[in-house]
Amino acid sequence: MTYDVLIAGGGNAALCAAISAAKGGASVCIVEAAPKAWRGGNTRHTRNCRLAHDEGNGILTGPYPVEEYMEDLMRVTKGVTDEELAALTLERSKEVWDFLAENGVHFQPSLGGTLSLGRTNAFFMGGGRSMLNALYRTAEDLGVVVYYDAAVTGLEIEDGFFLAADVTHGWDGDSPKADRIEARAFVAAAGGFEANIEWLTEAWGPAAQNFLIRGTPYNTGGLLRLLMDAGVQTTGEPDQCHAVAVDGRAPKFDGGIVTRLDCVPFGVVLNADAKRFYDEGEDFWPKRYAIWGRLVAAQPDQVGHVIIDAKSFDLFMPSVFPPETANTLEELATKIGLDPEQMRQTVDTFNAACVPGAFDHTVHDECHTEGLEPPKSHWARPISEPPFYAYTLRPGITFTYMGVKVNRDARVVMENGTVSPNLFAAGEIMAGNILGQGYLAGIGMTIGSVFGRIAGTEAARHVRN
Ligand SMILES: Cc1cc2nc3c(=O)[nH]c(=O)nc-3n(C[C@H](O)[C@H](O)[C@H](O)COP(=O)(O)OP(=O)(O)OC[C@H]3O[C@@H](n4cnc5c(N)ncnc54)[C@H](O)[C@@H]3O)c2cc1C
Repeated sequence: MTYDVLIAGGGNAALCAAISAAKGGASVCIVEAAPKAWRGGNTRHTRNCRLAHDEGNGILTGPYPVEEYMEDLMRVTKGVTDEELAALTLERSKEVWDFLAENGVHFQPSLGGTLSLGRTNAFFMGGGRSMLNALYRTAEDLGVVVYYDAAVTGLEIEDGFFLAADVTHGWDGDSPKADRIEARAFVAAAGGFEANIEWLTEAWGPAAQNFLIRGTPYNTGGLLRLLMDAGVQTTGEPDQCHAVAVDGRAPKFDGGIVTRLDCVPFGVVLNADAKRFYDEGEDFWPKRYAIWGRLVAAQPDQVGHVIIDAKSFDLFMPSVFPPETANTLEELATKIGLDPEQMRQTVDTFNAACVPGAFDHTVHDECHTEGLEPPKSHWARPISEPPFYAYTLRPGITFTYMGVKVNRDARVVMENGTVSPNLFAAGEIMAGNILGQGYLAGIGMTIGSVFGRIAGTEAARHVRN
């Protein structure tokens, strides 16, 4: 089998690349590791992407200039980014709305309770799955061939030049069935390695065994490993990732957005020793939720327990799984497996340190603790009104950052510094070029859309030339 452009992956980055390459006149084949019902990787779980724009448009509520976007990015990454590629991404994010809309994606105003993103982030009508369905429909109309249940398991690359890929699809008796697909250009859009617990363990140690993977089980990093073996340069650290604290009862994979818990600022968070370990009221939750995955990962057994009382129960988005509940703290401690005496002592000490004040969860209010380590800076109120509630937290990995190094054309850079003429990468697999650390809500999809378009366009140009 031979195509002009072969694309590995079936999420946003792959689809943006496929559509752009097909519009550039190339014959395009997508191989997606997941079966059709599970196509689309982590993109299925998304809701929005962050786009620069000079004015509001009726759905985006106001301007979000590139300069402001850049300041936001520099703040969260603390400057650990390739500034040239970051600037390119943010500048070209201005084109993403029109590109997606032209290819069948519809937008809607931001949802209530979604981290105040109405000005900066474009929400997909029907979420990521419906956005993907639109892009698949467009790609297929353009003649793009899609194979499902088909993973790239081998690469033929000579001196940085792509020749062919082995694609494994199903079984022939006891042996995996594989085909060799030749192409004149290859786009790697196969996500990060967040679903590969073994690889996470190399980076995080045994703690990784207790991580929950919020997205697809198919992003195992197999293609990233093949590219590394072929001498492609990597960027980013293996332990850098987006990780949030999710409900401990979430499934091991694919729990998605609904397993997130937003109650931390309203209570105290205790570790397995029934002790507090971080300021729960340091800042508004949208600005802090992405640090709690790491915080919980650093605790014994990688577990945390949020304890709140009756007066806080209606202040956050309801959870999918009901909390444990009890009329006394001791009873609650027993239910969640904590030492009742220690939990009582921790809560009593916290309650005694709360300085009375006017509680207002919409501002940085004056309710804080005094003489307590760690402090609670805002929204600190004694946990005293039964019933008491507990949610168990686990680290939930969204996606890993270490990936392949690319240039402005989305071409991969080899270890010896040369640039491959026909190997491209887009999406999570190269997100580490922009995201050395930290996260800005909605930028994952922006990186995939911008670099997917560039990769597809450049791959088609390479084929034409
Ligand atoms: C719960 C959740 C919510 C999120 N919400 C948002 C959001 O609202 N906004 C945002 O910007 N970001 C969000 N993200 C991050 C976002 O999902 C990613 O940044 C984005 O989807 C990456 O797109 P991608 O195409 O690179 O990867 P993916 O969409 O993950 O696609 C990778 C694809 O590669 C396939 N694949 C893997 N290995 C192989 C192989 N060897 N051969 C062939 N195919 C292979 C997989 O099956 C998959 O289809 C969220 C992530 C999660 C988990």
